[in-house]
Amino acid sequence: MSRPEIQVSGLHKSFGDNDVLRGIDLEIGQGEVVCVIGPSGSGKSTLLRCVNLLEEPTEGQVFVGGTEVTDPDVDIDAVRRRIGMVFQQFNLFPHLNVTENLTLPQRRVLGRDKASAAAVAAENLARVGLSEKADAYPSSLSGGQQQRVAIARALAMGPEVMLFDEPTSALDPELVGDVLAVMRMLATEGMTMMVVTHEMTFAREVADRVVFMDGGVIVEEGSPEQVIGSPRHERTRHFLSRLL
Ligand code: ADP
Ligand code: MG
Repeated sequence: MSRPEIQVSGLHKSFGDNDVLRGIDLEIGQGEVVCVIGPSGSGKSTLLRCVNLLEEPTEGQVFVGGTEVTDPDVDIDAVRRRIGMVFQQFNLFPHLNVTENLTLPQRRVLGRDKASAAAVAAENLARVGLSEKADAYPSSLSGGQQQRVAIARALAMGPEVMLFDEPTSALDPELVGDVLAVMRMLATEGMTMMVVTHEMTFAREVADRVVFMDGGVIVEEGSPEQVIGSPRHERTRHFLSRLL
């Protein structure tokens, strides 16, 4: 592996007496695509949220691009700028049109002027195939289009790493493919990605590595062929059998 872009070591996270993450160790190399699978409540979202400090770990360390984000003195905003996050719910600003959704964070967080933010917005809308929706409002778009706008908004910030938390779980089945196609393109372009998903076909075809979590620990990880195709652990087999 090249230098790890994301490194998680000895990560624990508790909410009260609920130990949600119970010692996670994970390294993700530059340009690597890692799919995280596992049952509901196993801690997948909490793990992603600890990587960009939406949740503060109880114990352990997280490094992104060589910077320890769990260092109490770290500039959290500077770290978050390097990490794009896409959620199950698209979280677009409903009162702003598509272009404004993409330019606002660039101007607020990166201090870009209006013209350069608009140029970056246009470029990223083109990447997700939605140039013709530049002036549309989120409510007029399908769920799949809204999610592609959310991805473009994250990309417009120029992240080094993209985190996806079940990006297609809220979509009607016929809209899932377009979103996965955009993610596939990013993977091909060499983006470092951590993707929580139940889309096993995507995981098989796009992931360099699959991580199966259960009960706040990594039960097994390996190539998609290995983890999905011939899982070593009974818990993994049980989980996969219920997806079919
Ligand atoms: P997954 O994404 O795998 O479904 P989560 O990481 O969302 O799992 O949740 C794992 C556990 O952590 C659940 O028991 C959930 O109730 C708990 N949890 C997650 N976020 C919070 C929170 N902000 N406060 C309290 N408990 C939480
Ligand atoms: Mg989740």
